[in-house]
Amino acid sequence: MITLNNVEVIYDSVILVLKGVSLTVKEASVTTLLGANGAGKTTTLKAVSGLLRAERGEVTKGSVEFDGERLDRLAPHEVVKRGVVQVFEGRRVFEHLTTEENLGAGGHIQREGARVKEGIERVYQYFPMLKERRAVQSGYLSGGEQQMLVIGRALMSNPKVILLDEPSLGLAPLLVEEIFGIVRRLSHEQKLTVLLVEQNANLALEVAEHGYVMENGRIVLDGPAAALRNNADIKEFYLGL
Ligand code: ATP
Repeated sequence: MITLNNVEVIYDSVILVLKGVSLTVKEASVTTLLGANGAGKTTTLKAVSGLLRAERGEVTKGSVEFDGERLDRLAPHEVVKRGVVQVFEGRRVFEHLTTEENLGAGGHIQREGARVKEGIERVYQYFPMLKERRAVQSGYLSGGEQQMLVIGRALMSNPKVILLDEPSLGLAPLLVEEIFGIVRRLSHEQKLTVLLVEQNANLALEVAEHGYVMENGRIVLDGPAAALRNNADIKEFYLGL
């Protein structure tokens, strides 16, 4: 379980972006963090993964905990070692490497070659499309395949928690549904804990068990996904209905 307690984040010592964010991501479930552009969703993920510091950001108040241990004082590679990985927005594959080489690169933290092979097979089991495209240079994959690949690559480190940043961006809804279906299966079958950042509230609330809505650096609403789907404010502001 991941917990953020009243987290404040400041960039460049002056730009206050998170203004006391508290949220809980339950083990082996999908939690979504919704909100408009610039609300602070990516910053929230970076506060968990420790990647804030690379951008001169800092958790200045509150804490981030994973299974009772504080993450917000750890270096990013230490956070990865605890089993928490972030998948960035924008599908950053290693374009000149094949699909399978990208997966191999994601497995570099495993010491034994046999475990890397096992990991690749597990990814192929969930994303059969990647198996078909294993020998293709990843720069030539479609957007959907690249999104599957960056998720698959993150799975190669055998994480307990995965932080997904806007996986739906620029993809057709049917494809997003397919990817989200796989994410849900991973959470159930592999006990993977997922924090999913999305602007597409409609699709995110289909896959998530619980949702939070963020506005201007604060959580303004949260609840079971089913309840949020029926909430009038959500419908108006985030589902565009
Ligand atoms: P998006 O969907 O556009 O990624 P978001 O909800 O993820 O939006 P963030 O990327 O967390 O929002 O950005 C929140 C605010 O913090 C924005 O106003 C942004 O300009 C600011 N911000 C983000 N990164 C930095 C940085 N490295 N330095 C200064 N300000 C930043």
